[in-house]
Amino acid sequence: TIILGIESSCDETGVGLVRLGPDGAVELLADEVASSVEQHARFGGVVPEVASRAHLEAMVPTMRRAFEVAGLRLSDVDAVAVTCGPGLAGALLVGVSAAKAYALSLGVPLYGVNHLAGHVAADTLEHGALPSPTLALLVSGGHSQLLRVDNLAGEITEIGSTIDDAAGEAYDKVARVIGLPYPGGPPIDKAAQRGNPAAIPFPRGLTGPRDAKYDFSFSGLKTSVARWVEARERDGEEVPVDDVAASFQEAVADVLTAKAVRAATDLGMSTLVISGGVAANSRLKQLAAERCAAAGITLRVPRPRLCTDNGAMIAALGAHLVAAGVKPSSLDLTTDPALPVSTISV
Ligand code: ATP
Ligand code: MG
Ligand code: FE
Repeated sequence: TIILGIESSCDETGVGLVRLGPDGAVELLADEVASSVEQHARFGGVVPEVASRAHLEAMVPTMRRAFEVAGLRLSDVDAVAVTCGPGLAGALLVGVSAAKAYALSLGVPLYGVNHLAGHVAADTLEHGALPSPTLALLVSGGHSQLLRVDNLAGEITEIGSTIDDAAGEAYDKVARVIGLPYPGGPPIDKAAQRGNPAAIPFPRGLTGPRDAKYDFSFSGLKTSVARWVEARERDGEEVPVDDVAASFQEAVADVLTAKAVRAATDLGMSTLVISGGVAANSRLKQLAAERCAAAGITLRVPRPRLCTDNGAMIAALGAHLVAAGVKPSSLDLTTDPALPVSTISV
């Protein structure tokens, strides 16, 4: 059974193809991504109109490349899965329209799926089925959440989330403050490797005894970095970019891993999966590995390419829905920019 996955919620046009085996195993056949990130770089964030237009231009060529890589034809497709939310309304609409056209013309079922559940599903392409329950730490450009995943095809419950900025958003904003390019995750990760993570004691948000145990806050950290850098500049001193990057990154990784391990321990979950763009972060993975090992928790993190937005994760989630016998979406499927993570498919 071949599942086509289409992703267009933000600035990546992704097309993935997977094969669902009779035993429920999901095999990756193609994962093609076209990004408009360079067109947004000078604005320091994604410009919705620019992203929508880029999706329109990239959709068919990306689709062609995916089929070429997989050595498949359109007529081989047995089901189509597409991100219908959350994300940018205009961007989502391009993927959903394309998916409807393919599903209708091929006469195959259509599944409108949740982008965030897709990020979690990405890991199954690399490490196989998730044990039930699994704790997922989803950290991306727009979200930072702790999720209890009982069933990828039907039951995801939010345990905690950020009360202000997402972790990736904090990376992007801090990069700007220290003069690194957008998106900020990769350059901060690189600079941090040359810096001292203990150089500056940046605050760990929501870690006080009376704070919500499983929620996150990164806005205070971001402001604190900005104030620290401003003070340096005011004194005419050079900003130690590598040390700021390392110290900021340490604060983010510390809070994320401490809260994830605590949730897994408190709630009796022995597997932690980290996914979303920020899961590509080297220090986050390293610290998570140390702390999970100490707590007896199995850690799963997909390779960086599967952490950031892609169509393969959407195809994988579609495959789990098909395998579970979940009812397909209707052809009047619409987008939902604010789709909650608990709604895995519509
Ligand atoms: P969402 O999934 O919440 O809708 P999104 O799709 O824009 O948001 P992703 O593509 O999953 O987010 O992730 C992009 C984010 O990941 C950006 O904020 C980027 O800075 C961050 N990121 C990418 N690589 C790294 C890294 N190595 N370290 C830290 N952050 C990273
Ligand atoms: Mg992106
Ligand atoms: Fe994403």
